[in-house]
Amino acid sequence: MTCLRLLLGDQLNAGHAWFGERRDDVVYVLMEVRSETDYVRHHAQKVLGIFAAMRRFAEALVQGGHRVEYLRIGEPRNRHSFAANLDWLIPELQATRLERMEADEWRVEQALIDAFAASGLPGRVVSAGHFLLERDEAAARFARKVPRMEFFYRDLRRRHRILLDADGGPLGGRWNYDAENRAKWPGDPPAPSWPWQQHDLRALWDEITAAGVQTLGEPSAQSFGWPLTRREARAWLADFIAQRLAHFGRYQDAISGRSATLFHAGLSFALNLKLLHPREVIDAALAAYESGRADLAATEGFVRQILGWREFIRGIYWARMPGYAALNALQAKRALPAWFWSADTRMACLRAAIGQSLTLGYAHHIQRLMLTGNFALLAGCDPDEVDRWYLGIYVDAFEWVELPNTRGMSQFADGGIVGSKPYSGSAAYIQRQSDHCQGCHYRHTLRHGERACPFNSLYWHFHARHQPTLGRNPRLGMTYRSWERMSVAERAATLAQAEHYLARIDQL
Ligand code: FAD
Ligand code: SF4
Repeated sequence: MTCLRLLLGDQLNAGHAWFGERRDDVVYVLMEVRSETDYVRHHAQKVLGIFAAMRRFAEALVQGGHRVEYLRIGEPRNRHSFAANLDWLIPELQATRLERMEADEWRVEQALIDAFAASGLPGRVVSAGHFLLERDEAAARFARKVPRMEFFYRDLRRRHRILLDADGGPLGGRWNYDAENRAKWPGDPPAPSWPWQQHDLRALWDEITAAGVQTLGEPSAQSFGWPLTRREARAWLADFIAQRLAHFGRYQDAISGRSATLFHAGLSFALNLKLLHPREVIDAALAAYESGRADLAATEGFVRQILGWREFIRGIYWARMPGYAALNALQAKRALPAWFWSADTRMACLRAAIGQSLTLGYAHHIQRLMLTGNFALLAGCDPDEVDRWYLGIYVDAFEWVELPNTRGMSQFADGGIVGSKPYSGSAAYIQRQSDHCQGCHYRHTLRHGERACPFNSLYWHFHARHQPTLGRNPRLGMTYRSWERMSVAERAATLAQAEHYLARIDQL
C-alpha cells in the first residue's frame, strides 16, 4: 500500500501536519512541469526561485527521512503536466492512494480534480494549513455580498484577538491609522537595503533554458537574491522587523527613484510559497510593538496588509471564480504599450517602476497600483493583457492574489467588488507621493501642450468617457464637479491631448 502525496511549488509549508510523522508508505511527489512554466510568460526569477525552493524543500524532506519522488524540468521521463506524470508514476510506485493539499489557484485545482478522478484511486484533499480563514469559509462568506475590506478586517482582528484592548475594542481607540500612513519619503531616514541572498543558480538556469522555457526579465542567476528556504525566509522577516517595520506605515504609499523597495517587507514571495506562515509574520510585528520597537500606527498598518488585504483578496477569488477572470466592466480593449516589456518610455515614474520589475521581479504596492495599474486603467487597456503582465512579471504572482488585485483593485474591471471606486490618479498624485516628476521629460503641471504629463489628460479622458456609469458613483462626485467647472475650451484641449497620446501610446 503506497500513498502518493502531491506537493505543489507554492505548498512548501514545513509546518504542515503531513510532515510531523515519517511514514514508509507515503511518497511525496514534486514536479517541475511545463504546464506551470508555460501558462503565462513568467519572470525568470520567478521560475528560478520556485524551482530552487522546491529542490531545497525536497532535500530537507529526504534528510528528515521522508520518501520523495522529484521530477526535474529537463528529465526525459517528465511528461510535463500533473495528470500525465501521475499516469506513469502510479504504476511505477505501485500507488494505491492519492492525496494532495487544496490548490490556491482555480486553474490548478480543476486540473488536479480531473487528474485524481482519472486515476481511479481513492483520494483525499486536505487544507494547505496556511491561511487564517479556510478556503471554503472564505468563499462562503463572500458568495452573495462582498463586505468592504475594512469590516472584514475588523472581524478577523476580533476573531484572532489582534491589537485589541481589554474591552474587545481596537487598541488605541482606532481601527485604522491610514491617515498617518501616506507620507512622501524625504530621503531620511535612509531606506535600508533588503537582505538579498547570493545564491548561485546558474546550473538550474541552464536546465531551465535548455528545456526551452521562455521567460522575461533578468534571471540574476549568479547571485540570486530571494529567500529559498524557511531559514532564509525567517532571517528576512527578522531583518524587516528590525530595520524597516518602524517606518513601514508612514511611507507605505511613497514612491522614490532613490529606493526601489523603501520600507516594504519583501515577504510576499516567501509567504506565497508558504515558507512563512502569515500568523508568524503578524506575531513578529506584534512582538515588535509590545517591545517598543514599532509604534501602533506602523504595526497596525502592516498587520492590515496580511490579516486584512491578503485574506480578503483570497476570499474574493474563491467566491467569484471562474467568472471573475472574464469580467471587463469598463469594456477596455486597448493593447498594453510595448514599453511595458522594455521600460523604454520617457515617463520617468513608469520607466523606474517597469525597469525595476524587469530587474528584480518586484515593484511595491503603490507602484503596481498607482503607476503601472493606473496608466493601464486610464488608457483603457484590456484587463486580459494587464492580468497576463502582472501574473508574469512579479516573483510573488499567483493567480489567487494577482487577479483580484489587478482586475479588481487596479482595473475596476469587476465593477466595484474589491473597491468602491477606481484607483485613478493624475500627475498631481504621483508628484505628491514621489520624487520622479522633477527629472521627467514631461511636465506634471501641464494638462495639454508640448510635454504635458500623459497622466493628466488621460485621467480626464478616462472620467469623461466613463461618465455615464462612473458619474453616478458618489465617491467620484468631486472629480466630476471639477471636470464640469473647467471651460469648454479647456476640456476640449485636454481630451484632444489624450487622443493624441493614445494614438502614439507606444512612443510615450
Ligand atoms: P508589503 O507592502 O511589505 O506588505 C506586506 C505583505 O502584505 C505582503 O508581502 C503581502 O503578503 C501582503 N499584502 C499587501 N497588500 C496586499 C494586497 N493588496 N493583496 C494581497 N496581499 C497583500 N501581491 C502578491 O502577493 N502577488 C501578486 O501577484 C500581486 N499582484 C498585485 C497586482 C496589483 C495590480 C496590485 C495593485 C497589487 C498586487 N499585489 C500582489 C499586492 C501587493 O502589491 C504585494 O503583495 C506587495 O507589493 C508585495 O510586496 P511586499 O512583500 O514588500 O509587501
Ligand atoms: Fe510620471 Fe508625469 Fe511625473 Fe513624468 S511628469 S514622472 S510621467 S507623473
